[in-house]
Amino acid sequence: MGELGEYRRKRDPARTPEPFGAGGRGEDGRPRFVVQRHSARRLHYDLRLERDGVLASWAVPKGFPTEPGSRRMAVHTEDHPLEYLTWEGEIPAGEYGGGTMDVYDSGPYELLEEKRNGQLTVRLDGDRLRGTWTLVPAHLDGEERNWLLVKREEGSRPTNRRRYRPMLPAPARRLPRGDWLHEAEWGGERTLARLAEGEPELWNAAGAETTDTHPTIARTLGRGLRTFDCVVDGEIVGRGGSEVYVVRDVLQLEGEELLGRALGERRAVLEELVDPRTAPIRLSESFPDGRALLEAAEEQGLAGVLARDPESPYLPGDRDDRWRLVSVRPPRDAGEAEDDERVIRAGRRTVRIRHPEQRWWPDEALTKADTIEYYRGVAPVLLPHLHARPFTIKQHYNGPRSPFRWLKDLPPEAPDWIPVTEQPAKSRGGAPVRYPLVNDEATLVWMVDYGCVDLHVWLSRADKPDRPDAVLFDLDPADVPFSDVVRAAHLLRAALDALGLDAYVRTTGGEGLHVLVPVARVHDHAEARAFAEVVAGALAATSDGLVTTERTTSGRRGVFVDTKMNGHGQQVAAAYSVRPLPGAPVATPLRWDELVEDLDPRELTMAVVRERVDRLGDLHEPVLHGRQRLKAALDRLV
Ligand code: MN
Repeated sequence: MGELGEYRRKRDPARTPEPFGAGGRGEDGRPRFVVQRHSARRLHYDLRLERDGVLASWAVPKGFPTEPGSRRMAVHTEDHPLEYLTWEGEIPAGEYGGGTMDVYDSGPYELLEEKRNGQLTVRLDGDRLRGTWTLVPAHLDGEERNWLLVKREEGSRPTNRRRYRPMLPAPARRLPRGDWLHEAEWGGERTLARLAEGEPELWNAAGAETTDTHPTIARTLGRGLRTFDCVVDGEIVGRGGSEVYVVRDVLQLEGEELLGRALGERRAVLEELVDPRTAPIRLSESFPDGRALLEAAEEQGLAGVLARDPESPYLPGDRDDRWRLVSVRPPRDAGEAEDDERVIRAGRRTVRIRHPEQRWWPDEALTKADTIEYYRGVAPVLLPHLHARPFTIKQHYNGPRSPFRWLKDLPPEAPDWIPVTEQPAKSRGGAPVRYPLVNDEATLVWMVDYGCVDLHVWLSRADKPDRPDAVLFDLDPADVPFSDVVRAAHLLRAALDALGLDAYVRTTGGEGLHVLVPVARVHDHAEARAFAEVVAGALAATSDGLVTTERTTSGRRGVFVDTKMNGHGQQVAAAYSVRPLPGAPVATPLRWDELVEDLDPRELTMAVVRERVDRLGDLHEPVLHGRQRLKAALDRLV
């Protein structure tokens, strides 16, 4: 018979609802265990094993080890009465162990080994915890109560550390009909998060880790989710200490990938998972009536309404119209205060800037006006890269973090002095699209005011739309670090050099690199693409797995060399574009000797790039008048 003396000494039956039973309920069959999730001053999981009529107990901070050989400190605590096997409840604040106690899992267990020094090896047979663990009286830091909990091989699982890309909604003008789930879109920072053995990891839509950027969310994630092993998707709203992580989806739970399950099922899992008592972690509320929500979103100035088909799977990195985003337009000019406008003179034109002080990158204290100022500063090197090229408007409704839409035709509200080029569109049965041309500073400023953060143009110019003046290799990491992208770019450059071709490199502002081969305007898009495919294929075949040309995203690993932007009507983020990502990174032309493995593309900010342009001019100026020809190179290849 164990001792409950210490347990009772620490508790006053008048002040805590915890059980005070005499113990020794005596059950037939196998002994039982319970693991309780104890959201106390420090979050921990209490492991209790039925032994000698009481529950021997250990407190494991954050979560259990689940990977083979993985270990966690386990603080040996006083024996608990057997009634604790099923006890759940609230221990008043200020009392011993004050906080919430939930049963995480329970079931029978088997004692596989007991050593003289007290070491126990047990096989847990619960619903969520199955497998073998060893409790070692390790006396960490010389403290007798500090044991180790070690995961043994049996029933262990390696953590799937894939940094999923978020699934994206298709922009929509209207809410769909039928039984869809509607949620508010807050216009926050899209963020995916993992708990692995209770340790948090956050990353953004581009796959960059943001754990340190959101310390409050990282610290409270384990408390807000009733597990120590999962991957969720959502958006971070608000700033600093008042950030809230609005959780919308669950991709993994306790070793199982849930991507193929219907959204309705994933929602049901989420509703169990998100602990409503943790303020910074919140379940995105779902409404059947989308119209009422859209009205509320308009009134309250939210970004829009996300409508999702309850049958939809989760497709990482894909845009799919089973998810639709209806954005709320910002209020029109009418009624706005006059001092919330600024007039900029550029050449012969004046452009009115609405909301110049709008905080576009709050963490960097960068406003819309700062962004316009940047673009005006680099206009002398940027405009030649936009000049005479069909320009596609990517309009953000409310700054870089808000939803956006693509506009090919110049919208009717644009001033009539912006030139357009008519280009027949396959998607319209040959009917023309009226693309704007950003040929001068005034048009550039108007575009940014209209909501363009990054600038997208064709690889060809309007006068010879079928004759690109560069071949583009788009290098994107798939599950590999940026240093691999750097290595791949140097390999690509060496291959092009062997073919007698000069190439130029720039960051994309995200995790990738663009390598451009300027050519004479004599090849069509198909020839450019065929050339790029041959080179990319040769690289993939000889780079020992560093480079891949695998088009399907699942299972793709390495540096993906994408060649499909070499095509009619493809729009490419121009050099010197600011990207709508945290930190306001810029697509920056680099010298090859600057492209080193520890380069961090996020450090190429607006301020850094302005200074570079002042010092270096336009490193990509040669891209604008290429004379190279692909035929000679192709002949050498074949
Ligand atoms: Mn506890």
